[in-house]
Amino acid sequence: MATNKQPTFAFGEGKISGYAAIFLSLLSFFAVFCFKFPELLTSPEFREVYTGESMKYLLVACIIASFFFAVLSFLLSNVKRWALMGILISVVTILLGGFTVEGRAVAPSSWHLGLDWLLLDLLLMAVIFIPIEMVWPKNKEQSKFHPEWRTDLVYFVVSHLFIQFFGVIAQAPASLFFGWMGLSQLHAMVQSLPFMLELFLAFFLTDLCQYWAHRFFHSHSFLWRFHSVHHSTQHMDWLAGSRTHFVDIFVTRASAFIPLYVFGFSTLVFNIYIVFMAIHAVLIHANTRIQFGFLKYIIATPQYHHWHHCEDPKYYGKNFATIFPFIDKVFGTYYLPGNEWPEGTGLHEANYPKGYVKQLIYPFTKSPFDENLHMEDRSKR
Ligand SMILES: [Zn+2]
Ligand SMILES: [Zn+2]
Repeated sequence: MATNKQPTFAFGEGKISGYAAIFLSLLSFFAVFCFKFPELLTSPEFREVYTGESMKYLLVACIIASFFFAVLSFLLSNVKRWALMGILISVVTILLGGFTVEGRAVAPSSWHLGLDWLLLDLLLMAVIFIPIEMVWPKNKEQSKFHPEWRTDLVYFVVSHLFIQFFGVIAQAPASLFFGWMGLSQLHAMVQSLPFMLELFLAFFLTDLCQYWAHRFFHSHSFLWRFHSVHHSTQHMDWLAGSRTHFVDIFVTRASAFIPLYVFGFSTLVFNIYIVFMAIHAVLIHANTRIQFGFLKYIIATPQYHHWHHCEDPKYYGKNFATIFPFIDKVFGTYYLPGNEWPEGTGLHEANYPKGYVKQLIYPFTKSPFDENLHMEDRSKR
């Protein structure tokens, strides 16, 4: 397991507050541009979820909070540069209109980036998972700023910014293969089911499709090149799950979208599914030892998915399900040994490409690992 040269966070040293000041000021800085150029930088689907008014208050709150943390860091720490940087970015944000911007009617546009989705999801996930990882860490030695955190952040940024691109392509196979069918009767029937049953069906059918797509990625050497990117992380944390090659994202999302499209679940069920997946996918990669009691046998937990990422070839090919462990039980790929955790995560290959661009290109090139027994090991399971 890679160790960290940088010390871990400690309360009372002004480091956490310094980073919080910089983080919040940067989010505020970019949020101002969402108000100024909403046609280009915000997504119509996501705009339906919030109002300009609520986002304005959130922006003001983030700017004030960044000042608060900057002052705290300034008082607590000998290192003044974190506080000064936070204050500088916040001042620039205010000069750009941070306290005065207003939400307005947005004209339709043919293309857009999901900067609003990126900033809000980043804020929400950081607020939920950074405290959890600090209070109940699995690997105490692992710094938030491990050697590859920037790579994982780039994956997070790209997958959120290009939400329109990913969405259109991920939905294409479902409408292409099933769009010609008259599905309205089936949709009406599904939507008349008891709510909990409909919800379970949506989760189960999407997870079943994802299970097989995921297993397919593990059992074909060409596909494995794409999915190996996701497995290359040695530092499991809340950002690590973002490290997924775009081909992997398309195929996995498209496979999950097929049952959603065919069965036509109600909007409420669809929205619950989207919110659950956004949080749960981050949770299962998080650097936290929270065990969840008996729930861990019902819903996939960090321990469950960390075993899927286990570095030791002895444990390859386990725990493909994203939500329900019982799917792995049925297909013989379940592994959850008491309270044990894998020794390490990542790939066995030395010199695996590092960095977003190298990993983007790598699956399309002749892989130096093609002759490796590693893949054979995976396909047998
Ligand atoms: Zn996998
Ligand atoms: Zn994973």
